[in-house]
Amino acid sequence: MTSETDSPIPGASIHQDTIIPACAPWSARIQKGDMLRLIDLEGRQAVDFLCYNSASPAERYNAANTMKLNKSIYLGKGCVLWSVRARKMMTIVEDTCGSHDTLAGCCSIEIDEVRFGVTNTRSCQSNFEAELAKHGLGEKDIVANINFFMYVPVDADGGVAIAEGLSKPGDYVDLRAEMDLLVVISNCPERDNPAAGFKPTPVRAIVYSPA
Ligand SMILES: [Zn+2]
Repeated sequence: MTSETDSPIPGASIHQDTIIPACAPWSARIQKGDMLRLIDLEGRQAVDFLCYNSASPAERYNAANTMKLNKSIYLGKGCVLWSVRARKMMTIVEDTCGSHDTLAGCCSIEIDEVRFGVTNTRSCQSNFEAELAKHGLGEKDIVANINFFMYVPVDADGGVAIAEGLSKPGDYVDLRAEMDLLVVISNCPERDNPAAGFKPTPVRAIVYSPA
């Protein structure tokens, strides 16, 4: 626990303050009412994100419910992350980037081979599997995830692509936990499309109790 004077967020009690290295996974337990700040330190870095009810992980983030109940395929300030049981998991209470993806899911070694003809050694899929294993979960628990700071424009005809990211260095989102949660992140290692600006970079995750 950091004292208030050291806090990077004025008045907050910091429970965890972590630089997630480029390409690495991370996870944390977050109590109801506490906050998670994700900072895109250098900009244009996709942060692949999943969350689970800590007490009962079969209840997890659900992309379709989240799109339907927010009436949007993009997430931003005021949006709620909804569970498969249509309960609130997290609320985006601050967002300096403005657009986060619900559609494109995560990269994998296999899809990179199909898309780009390359054999990569790591991916968000493998990061998620490794990080979930620490919590007794596995590949069956990976669902369509959020990509914070990733830009996936959809045109009027339904055309969709992963485009150059909109986030600037230092952009952040603040998420309030609406239940006790396990959150799991893959700091996207993709080098073959613009998800991570063709050059994966570190991000920062701060878990805190607000003032
Ligand atoms: Zn990825």
